[in-house]
Amino acid sequence: MTEPSGTAGTQPTLLIDPSAVTANVRTIGAATTGEVMAVVKAEGFGHGTVAVAHASLAGGATRFGVTNLEEAFALRDAGFTERILSWLNPLDADFATAAERDIEIAVPGLAHLDVVRAAPGLRVHLQLDTGMARDGASPEEWVAMCREARSAEEAGVLSVVGVMGHLACADRPGDPANEAGRDRFAWGLRTAQELGLTPTDHHLAATAATLSDPLTHHTMSRIGAGLVGINEARNVALRPALTLTAPLVQVRRIAAGTSVGYGHSWTAPRDTRLGLLGLGYADGLPRLASNRAQVMVRGRRYPVVGRISMDMTIVDLGPEDGAVRQGDLATVFGPGDAGEPTAAEWAGWAETLEHEIVTGLGPRLHRTTLPLAAAPATDPDPIQIGTR
Ligand SMILES: *Cc1c(COP(=O)(O)O)cnc(C)c1O
Repeated sequence: MTEPSGTAGTQPTLLIDPSAVTANVRTIGAATTGEVMAVVKAEGFGHGTVAVAHASLAGGATRFGVTNLEEAFALRDAGFTERILSWLNPLDADFATAAERDIEIAVPGLAHLDVVRAAPGLRVHLQLDTGMARDGASPEEWVAMCREARSAEEAGVLSVVGVMGHLACADRPGDPANEAGRDRFAWGLRTAQELGLTPTDHHLAATAATLSDPLTHHTMSRIGAGLVGINEARNVALRPALTLTAPLVQVRRIAAGTSVGYGHSWTAPRDTRLGLLGLGYADGLPRLASNRAQVMVRGRRYPVVGRISMDMTIVDLGPEDGAVRQGDLATVFGPGDAGEPTAAEWAGWAETLEHEIVTGLGPRLHRTTLPLAAAPATDPDPIQIGTR
C-alpha cells in the first residue's frame, strides 16, 4: 500500500506471490470440466484484488465473483472486462450503475427482485438457499421468485442467466448436508426451467466442493480460498501465496525468572535472549496465538512468548550466543518451503481458519507483490520473436 520511505528501514512486509495463485487455479481447473469463477472478494482474500485477478485469469479463470458492488466497480475501474457477479447487496444498492457497468447481480429473494427489475437490462443469477439459512431464497419463496423473474424477462427488463447455491459443509465430503444441498439445488434448477427460465450458469461448488465432490460441479465453480492456497477439504495440496517477514528490532538478555509482556503471561525458566518484532494484533497476528506460535530466524524456529500486543511480538531466542542478531529478518509465516511456519499453523495456534489469518492482515504492513511469472506463451507473436 504505502511505499517504504527512504528512512523507514526494514519494515514488517507481506510478500505476495501471484504465480502461486496462477498455479492454484490450474490445479483446480484440472479437477472440473466447468468454468472457474475467481472470487476476489475482501481484497482478493487479503492478497490484493488486482494482482489476484490477473493471476487468476492467467491460470484459466474466465470471470470474477465479488460480494458487493463497490468490489465489482473496483474491478471495472482497474480495466477488467470479464463478466463479474456480485452477490451481496442491500436493497438500495446502485443497481442502475451495475447495469451500466455490466455487473451481474445475485437475487436472493423477492424483495431484491423487485428493486433489481427497476434497473432495466440487468443479468441476474437467482440464488437458492441450499441449506445454510444464510443467503438465498427458501424453497417456498423460490417458486414465486422464478415466476416473477420469468414475467420480468417477458417484460424485457432483466434476464436470468444463472442459478446458484452454496454448501455449508463442503469441507466434510461425507456430511449428509452435502447430498441434501445437491438435491435441493437440482430441484431449484429443474423448477426454474419448468417455469420457463433458461439459465446457462448453474453453480453450487466453491473450493472444497470442487476439489472433493464432482456431483457439485455443474457448469461453473466459484473459487475463493483455493486461489490463495486454502483447501479446507485438505485432499489436494495448493500453494500459499503469502510470506510475512519482520526484522528483530531489538535483542535483549534476560535472567531466569524474568516475566515478559503484558500480564506477565510467560516467565523465563532460564537465562535467555528475547527478540522483539514490530508487529502485533493490529497487523493481524491473533492475540490467541500468544505463547503458542513460532517464527523462523536463520533457518530455526523460535517460540512466541508473552502476550502478542498491538504492535509488538516477543520471541524467545534461547540462551546460546547463536548466529541470530538484532536486525535479522524473522519469517512469521510463508509457504513452508524452508520449514517456516505457515498461515495454516497460525490458524491452528489461534483456533481459527487460515481464511481469517490472511484476510485479517492489517493495512500497516508493507506489501510487495512479485511480478507474475510469464505464463507459457499461448499466443506468441512470431514476428516479434523473429526480430529479437
Ligand atoms: C466466498 C464465497 C465463495 C468462495 O468460497 P471458497 O470456499 O472461498 O472458495 C463462493 N460462493 C459464495 C457465495 C461465497 O460467499
